[in-house]
Formats: sequence, structure tokens, C-alpha cells
Amino acid sequence: MSVLADRVERVRAAMGAEGVDVVLLSVGPDLPYLTGYEAMPLERLTMLVLPRDGDATLVVPRLEAPRVVEQPDVFTVLPWTETEDPVALVADRAQGAAVAAIGDHTWARFLIDLITAMPATTFRRASAVVGPIRMRKDPDEIAALRAAGAAADRVAAQLQAGKISLEGRTEAAVSADISNRLLAEGHERVNFAIVASGPNGASPHHSAGDRIIQRGDVVVCDFGGRLDGYCSDITRTVAVGEPPAEVADAYAVLLEAQQAAVAAAVVGTPCAEVDAVARRIITAAGYGERFIHRTGHGIGMEEHEDPYIVAGNDLTLAPGHAFSVEPGIYTPGRWGMRLEDIVVATAEGPDAMNRVPHELAVIG
Ligand code: ZN
Ligand code: ZN
Ligand code: ZN
Repeated sequence: MSVLADRVERVRAAMGAEGVDVVLLSVGPDLPYLTGYEAMPLERLTMLVLPRDGDATLVVPRLEAPRVVEQPDVFTVLPWTETEDPVALVADRAQGAAVAAIGDHTWARFLIDLITAMPATTFRRASAVVGPIRMRKDPDEIAALRAAGAAADRVAAQLQAGKISLEGRTEAAVSADISNRLLAEGHERVNFAIVASGPNGASPHHSAGDRIIQRGDVVVCDFGGRLDGYCSDITRTVAVGEPPAEVADAYAVLLEAQQAAVAAAVVGTPCAEVDAVARRIITAAGYGERFIHRTGHGIGMEEHEDPYIVAGNDLTLAPGHAFSVEPGIYTPGRWGMRLEDIVVATAEGPDAMNRVPHELAVIG
């Protein structure tokens, strides 16, 4: 059985368990996950109609149809012409569905039209059905995450070696430099390249601006992109010149917390406990109030997806779960620091996708 057909079979089993008669997928990652085809985000509707029993159909605008690679064991293609009503075609294929699960990223206009066209159908979110399956990465997906992580690592190594000059340049210039290097290392797309220097480092999602990086700055660099459909995401913090003792002391705590949380990410551990491991160490050292976000997020075809490493998430880690471990300490007005790796839970223990050194690199 092909990888795609295997995934569809698992989705059908989940539909049975959840009482879902048909899954409807448009833009967003669920569609390429099951069909290999990514819908154009257009006013012309593309939608996979996947009944629990019966054959799946990909309803696609005729002009996009040549881009679809047919997967006869997964779906057939139904192109629609400019004068046809694609919502009516979807409703027809989904006929009689009492419960439909629709992709979370579907445009509201299509959902509203479908609700009108299928008045007897109850709509739910497809993430309830597809999410738990997508969360468990298969070996091909883990290989893709590893390749994306290795490419991001090569850029992080250049940063740590001082090959990306910092002092005297703007954050925006360094961000553009990092982005170009991500592409040069094989990423097809850059998702973000945060460069937060000095006091800007205290804002976790600071957007790189025209502040000129100075000697004595601590600089948070958090960057990632997509390679062969899967995302990378790494943070390394560097110091421009020898950092003051308070920075070195805080970084030692951050490093201990991050490494302990990675080590805690073993199969069977609740996501909330991985967060708690990092938080306990940071709190015990007196920085608890300055760790202002969750410890991590899932990653895969999306930069942020399930599972979230956060207090209250009782989900226990299973083999194939992929997520970030990224505690931070932020001191408003002065500096910030964060340390992030992508980790995959496996039966043999946590498998880190990022391998560059974790120590605070001192540049210049
Ligand atoms: Zn973030
Ligand atoms: Zn990140
Ligand atoms: Zn992240």
C-alpha cells in the first residue's frame, strides 16, 4: 500500500470511531497529507470529498487539474468548469452525510455555502479526525524533519562561528542574511527569521527592525523555513563580546532547563510535564516570572501544530510526536534569551533534529 493510501485508511478508521460520514478538505496541510496535492488559495474551490465508505473524489477547478498527480488508489479527479457550481458538486458527492468533518483552514465562504447546500448535515472540524494521525509522524516525515533541521543547523553553525557578522549591522540586515542562507542550504521557503538584539530580545516574537547591533548585546536568533514540505525551527542566542555575569548566569539556567526538558520528552510523558520540567528549573533559579510562554509547539507540515508543550495538555507523548522545546528568559528593557531544538519522541527516547552546540556563543 502506498504511503498516501495508508494514511487515508487510518483516517477512515478514525472517521468510524468519531462517527464522521465524510471528510471535506480544501486549503491547508490535511489535503496534501492525504493526496500529495496542495490546493491553490483561490476563490475557485478545490475540495477532497472523502466518504467513510465509498471512493474519494478531488473536486478541482479545471484549469488547476493538470497540476494534480492522480493517485488512483486514493482518489479520482473531478474537474469543474467555470460555469459549474463546485459547492453543488461537493454536496452531491457527500450526499446523505449526517456528519461532515471539514478542514480547519477552509475559507468561511465555502463552509457557509456548504451549510446551505447540505441543510441536514452537521459540520465538525476535520482536525478532530486527521489531527491525531498527522501528529504521529511516519518514518518519511521524520526523515524530512531531520533534513530540514540539519539545513537550519548549518545556518546556526555559521552564526555561532561568527560568519554572519552582527556588530554594526541592523537586525533587518542580519535577518535577510539568515533568510538567504536558509534558502542556500536547501529550504524552499523561509517562514521567519527573528533577530532580536539588546532590549528587543525581551519580546519573544520581535520583528527584526532597524536597531543597529552593538557590542555588549545579547541577540536572539530564531529562524526556520520549509524543506520538502516539512518545517525547521531553531533558536540560538549569541553574545556580541563577553556578556555580563547576570547574562551568563541566566543562560546557564536556561541551558539546564532546556536540556532537562528535552531529556524528559520520552514516550508516555504528558506534554504538560515536559513544560513543567523546564519551568521548575527556571522558577527555582528565580526567573519564573520572566519565562512568559509555553515550552513548545508541534511541528511538521505546519510551523505550529499539535502537540503543544504547555500546562494543561494531558496528552501523553507517543512515538512520532514532533515538537519544539524552547524555554526563554526575558528581562524587559535589557535583554532576552531563548534556546530551541526540534525533538521527535521515539521508542528509543527523544531524538533531536538539531545538533549544533547549545552553549551561549560569544562572537567577536
Ligand atoms: Zn515562537
Ligand atoms: Zn523558533
Ligand atoms: Zn518554535
